[in-house]
Amino acid sequence: MSILKCPFCSSHSQNIGFSLSFRGIHRYVFCGCGASGPVAKGKSEAISAWNSRMQVFFYDPETINSPGERKRTKAYIESLTQDGFTVVTIPCHSNEQEPTK
Ligand SMILES: [Zn+2]
Repeated sequence: MSILKCPFCSSHSQNIGFSLSFRGIHRYVFCGCGASGPVAKGKSEAISAWNSRMQVFFYDPETINSPGERKRTKAYIESLTQDGFTVVTIPCHSNEQEPTK
């Protein structure tokens, strides 16, 4: 599993650190800019914990009523995808823009 780039500085040079406590050695991903991921049991868990931070949630553009908002959301999702984010879309149930009777 590869480590996604840092959401704060866009760097790809992350390292795996470890912390020692009474529960044993735990690992985490950290970046040169000071960002660090959640502490996990093993290296792969630490990486997936770091990567899951890269998930962003958006309303599914197809379910957004407002054409302008839909267009903006689509463009935003596209640029975030290019930046290495994992975009998760959820259906928009808001009726604020165009109330349906
Ligand atoms: Zn960073």
